[in-house]
Amino acid sequence: MNCPYCNNQVPSNVNNCPGCGAPMPQIQQPVQNTAAGRVIPSFAHSSWMSITSLCFGAFCLLGSFDDSEWDEDTAVGFLIFFAICLTFGIITIAKERNHKVYKGLAIAGVAAASLAFLIAL
Ligand SMILES: [Zn+2]
Repeated sequence: MNCPYCNNQVPSNVNNCPGCGAPMPQIQQPVQNTAAGRVIPSFAHSSWMSITSLCFGAFCLLGSFDDSEWDEDTAVGFLIFFAICLTFGIITIAKERNHKVYKGLAIAGVAAASLAFLIAL
């Protein structure tokens, strides 16, 4: 490029013209549009959280079909499983954006637990 002040040939990597010392305009690098090509990071814990949610939901559902009289321990256990399933399931549903499979597992887990809760009532 040439210096805009003295028209000397100036290397492009210098900040000042070697001929007259004038500051050289910096070539603006095109700004990479990182947002367009960027992969939104998936919620890292959704894999095991969704599976945990589904497992505990299934446990709840199995437990709810048990006709025998529930003692206090069984009821407390059911509520703990129900709470774990709901917690992990809802976190996954809320945070997972990319993996529909994990989200589906979490929804299935929450649905199973909810169904179990209705049956158990
Ligand atoms: Zn110059």
